[in-house]
Amino acid sequence: MQQADFCPIVDLNQALADLLTQARQMPISGKVADYIPALSQVAPNRLGIAVATLDGKVASAGDAAVPFSIQSLSKTYALTMAMQLQGDELWHRVRMEPSGQPFNSIVQLEWEQGIPRNPVINAGALVIADVLASHYSASINSFLMFIRRLTDCQSIYIDPKVYASEQQHGSRNAALAYLMKSFGNIQSEVPLVLEQYFHQCSVAMSCEQLARSFLYLANRGQDPVSGEQICSRKDAHRVNAILTTSGMYDQSGEFAFTVGLPAKSGVGGGIVAVVPNYGVIAAWSPPLNSFGNSQLAMHLIRALAEQLGLSVY
Ligand code: GLN
Repeated sequence: MQQADFCPIVDLNQALADLLTQARQMPISGKVADYIPALSQVAPNRLGIAVATLDGKVASAGDAAVPFSIQSLSKTYALTMAMQLQGDELWHRVRMEPSGQPFNSIVQLEWEQGIPRNPVINAGALVIADVLASHYSASINSFLMFIRRLTDCQSIYIDPKVYASEQQHGSRNAALAYLMKSFGNIQSEVPLVLEQYFHQCSVAMSCEQLARSFLYLANRGQDPVSGEQICSRKDAHRVNAILTTSGMYDQSGEFAFTVGLPAKSGVGGGIVAVVPNYGVIAAWSPPLNSFGNSQLAMHLIRALAEQLGLSVY
């Protein structure tokens, strides 16, 4: 499909501003995540959206330049890195099926002998964090450098307050990691794996930076701005497939049904949706629904996708 197949829009900035004005009239439903206490400090009425297109332009509205905690959006970057390090071996340690369970569920993991259903639920993301921690001598730095390269922005940082809060309240993630270690599916020491995972969740980025950084997934693995091949075409296909079936956790089916784009959410209230051959939409609103997805960010992406005819189906 070529870019010309999408509905043209004369002024994307204006269209985004209009969408935000409409969204601000809606009642705020949902609740800002507080199981990681630092996340509850964020104002619930923050609202932003950005669209990066393959020609390198970024349109935005609202709080699109304000950094927030990317949380599980980070799983997309870590997965891309781990796929390159482990190749097909990776898929013996983590599967590619939807879980049908909440993102931090532990029940399935014991029945399935420590092999997580997919790399974007927490258990799977911990296996991915283990791949990075076992391979790199300074995996957190390598991870941050990867994101800085994708955004061409050296100022992207890890929020130390969010990190400390994640670490203090990370018992469930520790339980997942130790359970997998007991099955032989974690190679490094668990504290090292958790350190990698909590740091990557604590990266702060804005909608504009997020949209820019996911462009390689809309362009078969190649960064359309720098021309750099970030991952193979096959791996870009696979990441998008996983985002489609599992990126919105137990609401991935509904998201495919109503929006029709590969997408990833995070409990910081961000959602990033990939539009192959067009670009990337990133939206942010902190209150979450019961699935852990931002209610208003989902609404914004759905409305824009409908307006522009972006569904991949
Ligand atoms: N750091 C969060 C956790 O481990 C990430 C979860 C998410 O964004 N869905 O629970």
